[in-house]
Amino acid sequence: MIRIYTISGYEEVGKNMTAVGYTNGGREEVVIIDMGIRLDRVLIHEDVNIQEFPAKELQKLGAIPDDSILRDKKVVAIVLTHGHLDHIGAIGKLAPHYPDVPVYGTPYTVKLAKSEVKSEKYFEVKNPMYETAFGEIVQVSENIAIEFIGATHSIPQASMIAVHTPDGTVLHTGDFKFDNNSPLGESPDYKRLKELGKEGVKVLIAESTRVAEPTKTPSEAVAQMLLEDFFLYEGREADGLIATTFASHIARLQELIWIANRMGRQAVFVGRSLAKYTGIAKQLGLIKMKGARAVRSPNAIKKVLAEVSQARENYLLVVTGHQGEPGAVLTRMANGELYDIGKRDTVVFSAGTIPNPLNRAQRYVLETKLRMRGVRMIKDLHVSGHASREDHRYLLRMLNPENIVPAHGEFRMLTHYAELAEEEGYMIGRDVFVSRNGYTVEIPGKEGQS
Ligand SMILES: [Zn+2]
Ligand SMILES: [Zn+2]
Repeated sequence: MIRIYTISGYEEVGKNMTAVGYTNGGREEVVIIDMGIRLDRVLIHEDVNIQEFPAKELQKLGAIPDDSILRDKKVVAIVLTHGHLDHIGAIGKLAPHYPDVPVYGTPYTVKLAKSEVKSEKYFEVKNPMYETAFGEIVQVSENIAIEFIGATHSIPQASMIAVHTPDGTVLHTGDFKFDNNSPLGESPDYKRLKELGKEGVKVLIAESTRVAEPTKTPSEAVAQMLLEDFFLYEGREADGLIATTFASHIARLQELIWIANRMGRQAVFVGRSLAKYTGIAKQLGLIKMKGARAVRSPNAIKKVLAEVSQARENYLLVVTGHQGEPGAVLTRMANGELYDIGKRDTVVFSAGTIPNPLNRAQRYVLETKLRMRGVRMIKDLHVSGHASREDHRYLLRMLNPENIVPAHGEFRMLTHYAELAEEEGYMIGRDVFVSRNGYTVEIPGKEGQS
C-alpha cells in the first residue's frame, strides 16, 4: 500500500512538505519530500526572528509545516526538490525531528540547505546531507529507491523526484516549467519522463500554481529578450539603472551580467542574499561573474553605493526588494537611505508580485515611494518559473499516471488541476485526490485492486 501524506503546501503557496509511505503489511517506510517555510506568516510579526524561534511556535504561526502526523513513523530519507525557501526553509527546524535520517538533493540545493541549517540557532542539525546527480537512483531502504529527474524552474538544478516502491512509482514534480531554451543550458529530461510513462506511474504529485493559465509558460530566453530590449537600446542612454529580481534566480542574474558587459557597465549585486546565492552558484560553475561584483557587508554596501551615485552611467545595480520586503536594499533606497534615488534613476522590476496580500501591500508602498521621488519604473520584465495548463497537459500525456494528487497551491489551484485532469479522462474522488494540509491519501496496492 502506498500512502501520500499531504502535510503542507496544499492550502497555500508556501511551506511545502509531502511524504510518501510504503508498507506491505510490515512497518511503513516513509520518504519526506521538501520542508519549506512560509515567510509572510513570519513577516507579519515584527518580533519574530526565525532563527531563534522553536519549531512548535513557528508551526502555531502557520509558518512551517505541522509534521506531527509523521512523528512515530519510520522515516528513511528526506529529499529536496530544489533550493527555494518554500521547499528547504524549514529544514533547520524540522530535520532534527528525524535525527540521523539522510537528506538528499542536487548539489546546488544541498549547498543552500546547508547554509540554511548553519544559520539555525535553536537546533543543531546533524542529519547527513548527500549531493545527488540527475539520473542517480538511491536505494534509501529495503523497499524504496529515489531517483532525481532533471527539470527546469527559476533556480538551477531543480529536480522531479521518483519514489520507486514494490507497488509502483510515485512521481513528485517539484516546481517546474518546460523550458526548451534555457539560457543556462538546462533542459527537462523528457526522455526519462517518457520512459516512466511506459513503465507505469502509480501516483503523480503535481504542482498546481499556474495551472489556471491557459497556455504554455514562455522560456527564460523570453525574459532575457525583454531585458535586452530595454537595456541594450533605451537603457544605454539612461543615467542610473537599478534592476531588482529574485536572489536565487541565477539565470536572470547571469543575463543581467551579460547585458551589463554589453553595455560597458559593471554589474554590482548589492545585499546579503544576492551574495549568498551567487556565491554558491559560482562555486559550482553555474554563474560566471566576469564583469560583476557582489557586496554583502553593510560597510561595503555603503561604500559602493556612494561610488555608484558619483558615476551612475558606469554601473548596473542589481538589488533585492522587488516585493517591497522591509529591510531589503530597494526598500531602503525608497526610504531615502543608502543612495539618493530619484529622477535620474530607472528601476527595472524583473519579477512578478508574489500573489499574497502582504506582498501586494508592500509592493504598493514601495512603488508609491519611488514614484514620489520621481523614479522611472519598468515593470514585469519577467516570465514565470511555473508550468501553465498546457505544460501540465503535456506532462499528463507523457506519464499517463494511474492516480493524481495536485499539490503546491491554494485550494482553488488544486481544483483547477483536478479540472484539467478531468478533461484528460480522470475523475475527482476516483483517481484524482484534492487533499488538504495534514491529510492522507491511500492508494491501494496490487492485492487491493480489482
Ligand atoms: Zn515552490
Ligand atoms: Zn520553486
